[in-house]
Amino acid sequence: MTVQNKVVVITGASSGIGEATAKLLAKNGAKVILGARRESRLAEIAASIRAAGGQVAYRATDVRRAADLQALVALAKTEFGGIDVLFNNAGIAPSSPISALHTKEWDDMIDINLKGVLNGIAAVMPDFTTQKHGQIITTSSVAGLKNYPGAGVYGATKFAVKNLMEVIRMESAAEGTNIRAVTLYPGAINTEVMGTISDQATLKGMAQLYDQVGIGPDAVANVVNFAIDQPEDVNVSEFTIYPTKQG
Ligand code: NDP
Repeated sequence: MTVQNKVVVITGASSGIGEATAKLLAKNGAKVILGARRESRLAEIAASIRAAGGQVAYRATDVRRAADLQALVALAKTEFGGIDVLFNNAGIAPSSPISALHTKEWDDMIDINLKGVLNGIAAVMPDFTTQKHGQIITTSSVAGLKNYPGAGVYGATKFAVKNLMEVIRMESAAEGTNIRAVTLYPGAINTEVMGTISDQATLKGMAQLYDQVGIGPDAVANVVNFAIDQPEDVNVSEFTIYPTKQG
């Protein structure tokens, strides 16, 4: 079973990496279910996917709410009869030095980037365990592999993702449930992510970096497509996606 006809739930599908991935997978014959908070954006993206002949459904989703993830997965089942893949991609990156004490943003990152990922995992795990088939792809960051000043809390949420995916992979192997767990570590990808940074010094530095080296979100979408396209007994578990200009 390749990308074609797979049912793929995508969080953070209203822009950037999630939007690009939804469009690519739908073009390649997957049935995509889009979740994010901005429903009007989801409606526009769904319309463009349908206009191109793709199959799509969407639902306003806040990943901080476990019930929203459950409802998104339920939509996949009612619309398309099941779920094969969760792309756990929603996230925010309001980076800042720890000493600046943007504690409300710390909470938001933990709630969205970490708790939101866990809510997605919880929503699919019962079906994936029962059907002995499923794939969870989660967007970490190069800040989930290396330490970057300014990305202390953001990086903490993204390091956590690596641990979760790898443990799911190992537990699934032990339990014989065939769940494939994949972590993505993108570098500088030009999306709307900068809009979540309120710390002005951090924003200035990031904007310069992205201007100089950033690449488009299709680079990540291609990798997601590749991971889903592998044979069922192959788990390509980690991908780092750097722009060639990023050191
Ligand atoms: P965007 O800002 O373009 O996309 C972020 C997506 O997450 C949007 O669709 C947004 O939708 C959604 N989102 C944010 N908060 C919530 C929430 N509470 N509930 C549901 N959806 C939410 O940025 P990217 O595409 O770059 O970000 C996607 C992922 O990639 C993130 O996890 C980010 O950390 C990661 N990443 C990005 C990198 C980059 O350079 N761009 C580098 C490394 C990792 P909405 O606002 O409508 O809810």
